[in-house]
Amino acid sequence: MRVDACRSCGSESLAVFLTLGETPLANALLRQEDLARPEARFPLDVALCADCSLVQILDTVPPEVMFSEYPYLSSVSTTMVAHARALAERTIADERLGPASLVVEAASNDGYLLQWYRARGISVLGIEPARNVAAVAREKGVETECAFFGSATAKAREHQADVFHAHNVLAHVPAVNDFVAGIGVALKPSGLGIVEVPYVVDLVDRVEFDTIYHEHLSYFSLTALCRLFERHALAVTDVAHLPIHGGTLRIHVRHAGHRSPSPTVAAMLADERARGVDALAFYADFSRRVERLRTDLVAMLTGLKAKGCSISAYGASAKGSTLLNAFGIGRELLDCVVDRSPVKQGRYTPGTHLPIVGPDRLARERPDYLLLLVWNFADEVLAQQADYRRAGGRFIIPVPTPRIV
Ligand code: ZN
Repeated sequence: MRVDACRSCGSESLAVFLTLGETPLANALLRQEDLARPEARFPLDVALCADCSLVQILDTVPPEVMFSEYPYLSSVSTTMVAHARALAERTIADERLGPASLVVEAASNDGYLLQWYRARGISVLGIEPARNVAAVAREKGVETECAFFGSATAKAREHQADVFHAHNVLAHVPAVNDFVAGIGVALKPSGLGIVEVPYVVDLVDRVEFDTIYHEHLSYFSLTALCRLFERHALAVTDVAHLPIHGGTLRIHVRHAGHRSPSPTVAAMLADERARGVDALAFYADFSRRVERLRTDLVAMLTGLKAKGCSISAYGASAKGSTLLNAFGIGRELLDCVVDRSPVKQGRYTPGTHLPIVGPDRLARERPDYLLLLVWNFADEVLAQQADYRRAGGRFIIPVPTPRIV
């Protein structure tokens, strides 16, 4: 379904600045029996709202199609789990949480974050739409309701949450206003919301075009976030720019008037204004830089292949799916995709139909090169694959410009 108005403010002034063609759903991994069937494809067009400056894709695939069986378990990444533990411990101290407190998380995945609050005796409630993932969380003792979060879901715990987490979920939500209204419903008058989203300025600066896929409907600047939360009587009281996932904004939100915002909020808004993040000119040459990246990467892979080198990919990620499909890189250049997640092994990548195999394959048939499709975990992957690299294997990191390490 194609939107004709901004998902945040309802304006019809949407200007498309990037078109990535029609691609299959980035997380729709295939089974062998699916390979002969046609795959659903949807346009991937990215637009800026002239009124609230929210960057968004125009086609909405129903979330029920994408998130009922989600293949991504957060705990597979040791970086994510360590990051989650540090965040939980700091929040417990800062907000003086104790056994009477309640922490709620939307899209709580496999309990990678809430488990650290549970370990300190704090009540938690996860809200996770993917049945298979919610079941994993429950096995860990993390109370989890299988649902999409919104104002209706929030009513069950109205004004009970001391802390509300929403990490890497707001960008996925079609009804952003209902989701943000739900945060206001869930939070106690003194409660703290912690929201993390990928930062659109990093996406543009670092040519992270492959983080654009149908699951990600919105691409936030602080300017767009403030306008969205203000509409629901919530104030952004703090902001931090984190390096994770290629550049993330972590904001603190509270009921309006409860606490005055940290000066970092005004400073970052001023910085965004100075860079013109709310104007189309800022996004104008992004499409051209993506096109140059395509030319350079395809030339590099084709050149290596012509020299007789074997190339596979590492990380059957959603961003990998965008990169391979938008750039037309498939079986003629790559042999397979290596991935640590057991739920992905044995399946095939959407659109390109590359077999997904476990890391044990690397030891047996060492490819000369691995195209790193999870560059956001580059340090972690390179450390894990030290043996492969010592034996002469090389990684190709595709963005912002392709390089071999
Ligand atoms: Zn708008």
